[in-house]
Amino acid sequence: MRAPVLAALAAVALLTLSACTAADAAPSASPSPSSSSSSSTPSGAGGTAEVFTPIVGAALAPPEAVPSTDGATHLAYELLLTNVLGQTVTLDAITVLGDDAELLRLEGDELAAWMRPLGGSAPSRVLTAGQQGIVYLDVIVPSPGDAPDALSHVIELTPETAIPPVVEKPMSETIAVTRVAASTPIVIGSPVRGAGWLDGNSCCAVTPHRTAVNPVNGTLHAPERFAIDFVQLDAAGRIVGGTIDDLASYGYYGADIVAVGDGPIVSMGWELPEERPGSNPTGLALAEYGGNHIVQDLGGGRFAFYAHLQGGNPEGLAVGQRLRRGEIIGALGNSGNTDMPHLHFHIMDSPRPLSSNGLPFLIESFTLAGTVSDTDLVDCMTASVPCAVDDSDSGARAEVSPLYRDVLDFGN
Ligand SMILES: [Zn+2]
Repeated sequence: MRAPVLAALAAVALLTLSACTAADAAPSASPSPSSSSSSSTPSGAGGTAEVFTPIVGAALAPPEAVPSTDGATHLAYELLLTNVLGQTVTLDAITVLGDDAELLRLEGDELAAWMRPLGGSAPSRVLTAGQQGIVYLDVIVPSPGDAPDALSHVIELTPETAIPPVVEKPMSETIAVTRVAASTPIVIGSPVRGAGWLDGNSCCAVTPHRTAVNPVNGTLHAPERFAIDFVQLDAAGRIVGGTIDDLASYGYYGADIVAVGDGPIVSMGWELPEERPGSNPTGLALAEYGGNHIVQDLGGGRFAFYAHLQGGNPEGLAVGQRLRRGEIIGALGNSGNTDMPHLHFHIMDSPRPLSSNGLPFLIESFTLAGTVSDTDLVDCMTASVPCAVDDSDSGARAEVSPLYRDVLDFGN
């Protein structure tokens, strides 16, 4: 879980678009050079002004309003941006507008922290000629009813070289009007039982799950946008009770995994060995990334993925078998692309774990025991020390989504 645990696959090769010069900077439909400082065409009869946008982009999928443990509602989505110029462009700021109101503004280093150019994993707000990058957005509104119908994005940017009047230095543009999905998240039970379960890598920070944008079957997919890696704190608050490379150090190893809802098994696999914790295995085939696993059809176009289970099919399950919510389906393991025992769980819009779109989910009821800080989490995942849990916002929660670093108590 320290490194991407499922599918932070190598990013796609970069697409190099037109190498623009002052003479051919604009597409053929763009205006002829003039003394005007505007790069937009006048509106035609009933038309909309045409504006040259050196950064083009769109959301990978429409965001959905997700009420969460912090009492707020999150809209988590990704903007895939392309620099169409033949020169480097620095993004100075992105402002997210909803119903013409500013909902989020990221600028400078803060924007870089939420952005990853394809081909690299380091934060950056610089796109070289023809390069693409993804901005991982987390727009927060008070409640689902406050979510706008659509979002648009004002991008302030600085190209290396101005190409007046079409490309100015600096300049701004508005792109990627993105509708907000009208759907509401599915409500499920917890896939684990008992107290002290830490939510690793889930929404909405830039975690290995959010950045697992997979180039599979010719398209980018973000199946793990809301995926949770469940690990459990012991009575002393530790994840690791001994050395990190010993399965016996993890007291929750082998914990019961239970079905989160009713529905049939679509696919499963039980043949993979347990990995030695402490580092990710190498040489896995794509189909082995999830380790021993179950895909369950929950209905309504939603599928549950339970991954990294212990092998051997201990409950004697069969494809097509209808699971009931709360039914034990396997044991928490360390198979596949994993570096410590955990349950990787997510909901997706198809039965394909790597090439679907990740969907949010709400857990029916639980107690938020607290939250572990980023720094403390690194400490207690890499050594046998207790996680420091801030319980200032603890309490019962109903039909909300857990957030990254939450500590969750479930019933038995
Ligand atoms: Zn995971």
